[in-house]
Amino acid sequence: MIKHGSGGTALVIPEQRPWRSPTGHVSVEVTRAGQLQLARALDGDELFVARIHSHPAEAFHSPADDANPVLTHEGALSIVVPFFGLGLRRGLEACAVLRREPTGWRDLTPGPGRDRWIRTADGSGR
Ligand SMILES: [Zn+2]
Repeated sequence: MIKHGSGGTALVIPEQRPWRSPTGHVSVEVTRAGQLQLARALDGDELFVARIHSHPAEAFHSPADDANPVLTHEGALSIVVPFFGLGLRRGLEACAVLRREPTGWRDLTPGPGRDRWIRTADGSGR
């Protein structure tokens, strides 16, 4: 999770546990301790503004991602990195980037519409 407030911007990585079902489905669960870490991470005016996580293959927002209660405010960003995070080697264009709007999560396709909301360290948004 990425938090932002008057003190600046910071990355918060909560405790997580990987999980694989007998059918091979994989997921990562934020543990109860991790949930408490997230709750304690915010100071007065801070807010979680973005979430970044990875999928084993393609980058997309799953129904579980849509239902995640951590980010529900308008303007929040959700970034999904493909191939267990290795997709970041191809830059942000390989990732799914979604913005929370009043009606739900909206996919931001690469280009000016996405660059309006995302800035990378090199300033390109890519
Ligand atoms: Zn996901």
